[in-house]
Amino acid sequence: MENKKEMRNWLDALNLDHPLVIAGPCSAETEEQVLKIAHELKDTDVSYFRAGIWKPRTRPGMFEGVGALGLKWLQKVKAETGMKICTEVANAAHVKLALEHDVDLLWIGARSTVSPFIMQEIADALEGTDKPVLIKNPVNPDLSLWLGGIERIYKSGVKNIGAIHRGFSTYQKTKYRNIPEWQLAIEFQNRFPDIPLINDPSHITGNREMIFDVSQTALDLNFDGLMIETHYDPENAWSDAAQQVTPSTLVQIMKNLKIRKETN
Ligand code: PEP
Ligand code: MN
Repeated sequence: MENKKEMRNWLDALNLDHPLVIAGPCSAETEEQVLKIAHELKDTDVSYFRAGIWKPRTRPGMFEGVGALGLKWLQKVKAETGMKICTEVANAAHVKLALEHDVDLLWIGARSTVSPFIMQEIADALEGTDKPVLIKNPVNPDLSLWLGGIERIYKSGVKNIGAIHRGFSTYQKTKYRNIPEWQLAIEFQNRFPDIPLINDPSHITGNREMIFDVSQTALDLNFDGLMIETHYDPENAWSDAAQQVTPSTLVQIMKNLKIRKETN
């Protein structure tokens, strides 16, 4: 796969004068929860409202998402707030349903990017869509596996592409939930300068206190945007409670971040 300018058309078309912001809860829990968060994010810098409806949990027995029902809630978000909507897809059936319900952007999670078979299945289901597709890094720090996944999606005719850096699993005790390994993201940027690179400080940190600092590092490295999990009652969220921020904290974070502008 070669670097191609067209890969960033979807982002350039938004004409933003600030980094792209994708925000919303880790998981869609109830219709009320989704709509309340969406209304609180409505008049902010958020371009895409996120909510996971199929949740890939590491261990069984945890909340695995509301499923296709959540697509109707996301459609309501779009109708009531005008925000674009996005969700994670992890197999061909998810892709079909998301496209049928006019989801504006789809992302592929870290536990899917590790599997070439599932990436090929998703790529085949996405064939030729003009919706942007963002590919998270795999859970392990393997740049080739990440690029291979992106390549499969691109080869199936998806031209609007992006990548999400969400950090990497480690057995070591660190302050991060998933260590950032920034050098890997920098190598990604060097090889594919036109693939928009979005940082996900929520899954890197696992801790809302560190979201600002990781976001600032990403912007200092010229990342194109941020995906930040946002919930009106983070402590009682059904998944990833420790890392979500409230909509007003998100606005504060965005206000305080120093945005580095491209000079070329
Ligand atoms: C998510 O974005 O909610 C998610 C499950 O993330 P990841 O695939 O990065 O673990
Ligand atoms: Mn999450």
